[in-house]
Amino acid sequence: MSRKIAIVGAGQSGLPLALALQSRGDQITLLTNRSPDDLRKGKILSSQCMFDAALQIERDFGLNQWEHLCPPVQGIGFTVPHPEKKGERLINWASRLDRYAQAVDQRVKMPGWMDLYTMRGGNLVLKDAGIDDLEELAATNDLVVVSAGKGEIVKLFERDAARSPFDKPMRALALTYINGLKPREPYSAVNFNFIPGVGEYFVFPSLTITGAAEVMVFEGVIGGPMDCWGDVKTPEEHLKKSLWILETFMPWEAERARHIELTDDNGILAGRFPPTTRKPIGRLPSGRIVLGMGDAVCVNDPITGQGSNNATKGFKIFHDSIVARGDAPFDADWMNATFERFWDYANLVVRWTCSMLTPPPPHILNLLGAANHSPSLAHVLANNFNNPPDYFPWWDDPVACERFIKQHAGAA
Ligand SMILES: Cc1cc2nc3c(=O)[nH]c(=O)nc-3n(C[C@H](O)[C@H](O)[C@H](O)COP(=O)(O)OP(=O)(O)OC[C@H]3O[C@@H](n4cnc5c(N)ncnc54)[C@H](O)[C@@H]3O)c2cc1C
Repeated sequence: MSRKIAIVGAGQSGLPLALALQSRGDQITLLTNRSPDDLRKGKILSSQCMFDAALQIERDFGLNQWEHLCPPVQGIGFTVPHPEKKGERLINWASRLDRYAQAVDQRVKMPGWMDLYTMRGGNLVLKDAGIDDLEELAATNDLVVVSAGKGEIVKLFERDAARSPFDKPMRALALTYINGLKPREPYSAVNFNFIPGVGEYFVFPSLTITGAAEVMVFEGVIGGPMDCWGDVKTPEEHLKKSLWILETFMPWEAERARHIELTDDNGILAGRFPPTTRKPIGRLPSGRIVLGMGDAVCVNDPITGQGSNNATKGFKIFHDSIVARGDAPFDADWMNATFERFWDYANLVVRWTCSMLTPPPPHILNLLGAANHSPSLAHVLANNFNNPPDYFPWWDDPVACERFIKQHAGAA
């Protein structure tokens, strides 16, 4: 049975849904506000590191076009500077991922997927959708999915206070895409640095419009010294500020970055937003309803690098739920049940991510420190990025955490 489905927003969740439903013969209208060329020539949007479970979903749907070109992220490293001895590290461990992660620049990926969709005859409408457009789409389609990321239109979906621990931005964010970084030895990794009271910095390989590159991600505690992008006006100043942060707080990272340069003038970004979960159903003035997907209804701080992973895992859940619906109506009960299936997974991702945005409790400091001496513990901490619910129950239960550390100490 072919269904008529409109998707608003051609990003990490909307495009895979459009392509997958198009492949099975549904009549798809994809509305988005940026053309492939706008995206290619525009600013970077994300750092988009994706772990194996999400990459596997893309493989399963034939959406891994850049896998052979994109450098692999082979591990995770974790560092905390020594609070008293400048230039020394209090915690410093790393572990290999069982399967590599990858980060394909959305300026490469989204235009590529959009071209694939239109080449296959897909109906792509370039428009900044407003409520009137949603009304028209809802009147003429069996289902409207809104995957508009952080766009204004997503305010149609009511914020779910019980599922949103914060009501303001928790970090001043910045991205810098670079070439010339000294390669990490003996394997590539997300090198994560945690500077208490100041913020976080991580860096990893990526594929961008100019080829292989590295992505620097800065997460500054609001009002702290890394909340420092307000007066940065040019790409040169952005690069200089990035280096200043490394030299000031992480000399070992500055050492790797002596010869870096921007990949391109658009390879920079700075901003902030409040992590927010919303109710999945948007009700239009006519009373018709639309369904939210991806960041539109569950946007996380990038500190744990889970947004694209969530968007992809969410797409798969929404896709399977649409297929399983057969020719029955996409009513409110179905919409709520579909989102709850996603939330069964995402609630622990949100909990883990939010926990990283406030000072860590003693049991987490113990855990992260214990991984210094336990390769098996470091291995678990690194590999659970692939499926964050595996951090529970011990992540937020001090007794279970202590037991977990002891198990690994025993194993060591
Ligand atoms: C600084 C930063 C770093 C990040 N790093 C990572 C990371 O390392 N790993 C990770 O997994 N995730 C990361 N993310 C998150 C990730 O990029 C997002 O979670 C993911 O792109 C969400 O996918 P989406 O489909 O929901 O929305 P998006 O990919 O944002 O797509 C939304 C689309 O909708 C369009 N749109 C918006 N409004 C309208 C409208 N009114 N009408 C029509 N179209 C509209 C937009 O132009 C866009 O194309 C990061 C995000 C940021 C900001």
